[in-house]
Amino acid sequence: MINQEFKAMLGAKNVIRNLAEYASARGKEIGYENVFDFSLGNPSVPAPQEFTDTMIQMLKDENPMKLHGYSPTLGDPSYKEAIAASLNKRFGMSYTANHIFPTTGAAGAISHAVRAVTKPGDTVLTIAPFFPEYKPYIEGAGCTLKVVPANTETFQINTEAFEEMLTSDVMAVLINTPNNPSGIAYSTQTLKYLADTMTKKAAEFGHPIYLLSDEPYREIIFKDADAPYVSKFYKNTLSCYSFSKALSLPGERIGYVAVNPEADDAEFIVPMCGQISRGIGHNCPPSIIQQAVGKVCDLTSDLSVYETNMNIIYDTLVDIGFTVVKPGGTFYILPKALEKDSVAFCNKAKDYDLILVPADNFGAPGFFRMAYCIDTEKVERAMPRLRQFAKEVYG
Ligand code: PLP
Repeated sequence: MINQEFKAMLGAKNVIRNLAEYASARGKEIGYENVFDFSLGNPSVPAPQEFTDTMIQMLKDENPMKLHGYSPTLGDPSYKEAIAASLNKRFGMSYTANHIFPTTGAAGAISHAVRAVTKPGDTVLTIAPFFPEYKPYIEGAGCTLKVVPANTETFQINTEAFEEMLTSDVMAVLINTPNNPSGIAYSTQTLKYLADTMTKKAAEFGHPIYLLSDEPYREIIFKDADAPYVSKFYKNTLSCYSFSKALSLPGERIGYVAVNPEADDAEFIVPMCGQISRGIGHNCPPSIIQQAVGKVCDLTSDLSVYETNMNIIYDTLVDIGFTVVKPGGTFYILPKALEKDSVAFCNKAKDYDLILVPADNFGAPGFFRMAYCIDTEKVERAMPRLRQFAKEVYG
């Protein structure tokens, strides 16, 4: 008999994908330029020219056996060294290549990191609002995901609920900053609090509690945002990174786990990731992509469009009267809907060809997410439509 658990998952609707499909079908009817699609988190700017040039040069000049051969189990040394050097230079860390494990994006990074520091049956805590794919990542490792309710005033951490839920069965805490869907970056104060609380509780429970820091938006930071490097605050941190967003390479599936050199059992974690890969049929990202990204890992795409778009949308939302926290980064914003039921709110918005995502699945019912990784020209055209929708439907 086929696996009933996975079969049951087929019935669950993916809200974002459904909305994106609706947007594209509607686009065929009225022209996609007339559909204001804020559903998907796909970068809207190309990877830097240097990445393309590097790939072309490598394909022309380098040994094909090296470019297309199997990656070593623990990753291509040139990539690992480049990542360690880049993080050390930028954040004052002391990684070596041995602390870096190349993965297929952040999804691969989290899937390895969680398996390295938990066993089936353990609990992993995350903090709302959160990326809904955490559920399959964590449950796929046999763990239970528990969600700390959101602090909807600031989208920092709901400290009272966090302390209540940080019980002795919690082996790892999974955070995401800057955050999808809120766009908020955890402040220095928040990260100090998180580190102090986890250190205290770990001592009380007599076992380490690892921090899995999911940071694919780390480089998409807006002016004046306080968005420090998480691993600086807490030694038992595994940073899970992806080049999907800031380098605009989501289809290349490249990221890494960076193990804080001071972490408990740090020396075992990357080699263990190699063993975890065997069990889940993962291999490091393609050799050529590791080698190319290693050469450009200090660059980003031109990310300025995201801040431009954020400011236009934020100012308009405030002017209309929405309750909204200003993002410090990413390409998302999470305003409060104008009625309690954000699914109903987003359905009504569809009548105005505004494609907004209800945030119930992100652990923020009553809120909706706008992904503004689209052309600024379209964002500007969408704003009168947003005003019209709010005025006609909600007065
Ligand atoms: N974590 C968060 C918060 C994300 O938003 C995403 C992708 O959108 C991922 C992880 C997965 O990233 P990747 O596609 O690089 O695996």
